[in-house]
Amino acid sequence: MTDNVEGFLYPELNGSICIKCGLCERVCPIKETDNRTTPISVFAAQYKNSEALLESSSGGMFSALAEYALSRDGLVAGCVFDETFTAVHILTANPARIARMRGSKYVQSDLRGVYPEIRTALDNGRFVLFTGTPCQVDGLFRFLGKPYSNLFTVDLICHGVPSPKLLSGYLRTASKNDTIDNLKFRDKKRNGWNAQGSITLDGKVKTFSSFNSSYYYYFMQNSIHRMCCYSCKYSSISRVGDLTIGDYWNIDEILPELDSRAGFSALLVNTERGREAIEAIKDNLTLYETTLEDCVSGNGNLSHPSPLPDSRNVVYKTIENEGYRACEKKFFKPKRLVPFIKRHTPKFAKQLLKKLLSK
Ligand SMILES: Cc1cc2nc3c(=O)[nH]c(=O)nc-3n(C[C@H](O)[C@H](O)[C@H](O)COP(=O)(O)OP(=O)(O)OC[C@H]3O[C@@H](n4cnc5c(N)ncnc54)[C@H](O)[C@@H]3O)c2cc1C
Repeated sequence: MTDNVEGFLYPELNGSICIKCGLCERVCPIKETDNRTTPISVFAAQYKNSEALLESSSGGMFSALAEYALSRDGLVAGCVFDETFTAVHILTANPARIARMRGSKYVQSDLRGVYPEIRTALDNGRFVLFTGTPCQVDGLFRFLGKPYSNLFTVDLICHGVPSPKLLSGYLRTASKNDTIDNLKFRDKKRNGWNAQGSITLDGKVKTFSSFNSSYYYYFMQNSIHRMCCYSCKYSSISRVGDLTIGDYWNIDEILPELDSRAGFSALLVNTERGREAIEAIKDNLTLYETTLEDCVSGNGNLSHPSPLPDSRNVVYKTIENEGYRACEKKFFKPKRLVPFIKRHTPKFAKQLLKKLLSK
């Protein structure tokens, strides 16, 4: 796998040693996929473990499911940041390493040999929970080539992944010469459940959002995704994982009485195996059954891929030719007042404003 000019990994074929078996094309998840299923049921879900919930992006479903895997003497595969803030997938049963999987890393994760490790574990009879984007789940199925009753898969609702090279360019610019101690794209500690992150530089925590972070802004504007994300076959209600998890962003409209400040996951139960898992852990969860339509209406990526904006190629080209800082200067204007106003507007006023604007 080699980086293209934008910093995305692509397979490079060495024609002189290729035996032309066609296997790489047959297993490519970008080709039509046949192992998808429509959800059996849909929930707004929240993990009752408040410590794990606070560290999670949404309603903490990942942590609840990781606990389920450990209770079955299983292993968990998911995405962590390594010491250079590169997102990589690892397989482990170590609770401290699993805790590092918490939180969305808004960048493409490098699978770095985790599929063969998973196959070995499965062949040895271990229970494995795999979590990742739907294309990564489908990629795993295609790599394994046969079903395993001890494999449990959870896919994310995903609106696209930026390139690791772009994230490192941003981090170099944002950190100046300070040491990056921590990076969280979703941090509930200051302002609850929302699309706000934090970066810790030389021990000092600074929050960021699409209003004051160029990277977050480009991400939210869909300007920096991998090209194939704009025609993603998995942005639909046909799912690949036993379960699908995401943010239940419109839960306040569906259940207005609910206190959603700590976050609620959208939970799609797609298979019988998924149903059994939720049944087994339901006492650890706060669950409200909703309709699929309600969930889809608040989450565009369950019905269509993110649209390709004109800015997408301009941003990557500018970074390629002039560097990250120049791109930031040209295409990003921080709005420092907006987050302040948003933070200090009460929930009822926000809901009223939303209603008035939608008329
Ligand atoms: C790139 C990306 C785009 C997303 N877009 C949407 C969206 O449009 N709408 C929506 O509702 N939800 C989206 N999500 C999902 C959402 O942000 C949460 O990850 C999800 O709801 C799980 O939250 P949680 O509270 O259960 O647990 P958390 O503890 O927050 O979940 C962490 C889980 O996410 C996985 N993960 C984290 N980063 C990556 C990554 N880069 N690649 C693969 N897996 C990763 C971990 O392995 C773990 O399983 C996206 C996530 C990612 C990573």
